[in-house]
Amino acid sequence: MARALLITDVQNDFTEGGALAVDGGAALAERITAFLRRHADEYDVVVASRDWHDATGDNGGHFAGPDGPDFRTTWPAHCVAGTPGAEYHPALDLSFVDVHVRKGQGEPAYSAFEGTTDAGADLVDVFFDREVHAVDIVGIATDHCVRASALDGVHAGLDVFVYEDLVVGIDQTSSEAALEEVRDEGGHTGRSDMDEGRQRPGGAVL
Ligand SMILES: [Zn+2]
Repeated sequence: MARALLITDVQNDFTEGGALAVDGGAALAERITAFLRRHADEYDVVVASRDWHDATGDNGGHFAGPDGPDFRTTWPAHCVAGTPGAEYHPALDLSFVDVHVRKGQGEPAYSAFEGTTDAGADLVDVFFDREVHAVDIVGIATDHCVRASALDGVHAGLDVFVYEDLVVGIDQTSSEAALEEVRDEGGHTGRSDMDEGRQRPGGAVL
């Protein structure tokens, strides 16, 4: 039985100055790095995902056309493969990351579970191979890619925990709704800074 940390889409385009900037994204990258320095050794595997879209076409309708984005299902062009916007935010310390996942090549892909590793493996297979039963999730954006990743994790049978202080969302109302949805589906949410020690479901203290 193993535990994983999933860092969702902490990329330049989702932080201040990026094409689809989320307020607080840069500060979040720093907080996640601080968390990793204290807690990375508690995880058997640390995974980071990136949105990684094609430069040509609209990526399955994910990039807005002439009418502009609705910021629900259509978005400004973002995280185009190989561009600076698609890179991880520089404040995220990648030395702790064991597995990199990319998603969204030519299609909308909110969940990291839709992505593949550099070796072409699905994330769920990475977790299966490493006997991961629990995954803690942090990153951007609470109301989109964190939400979708958490729900996919729950539906894959994983014990999912989203750290509310280590995520940022586009919209506060939809972010709160997303966390509620994760809880309704059987996941858990809470703060990372409750230690010593962090209360986990079932009363276990890390
Ligand atoms: Zn995208």
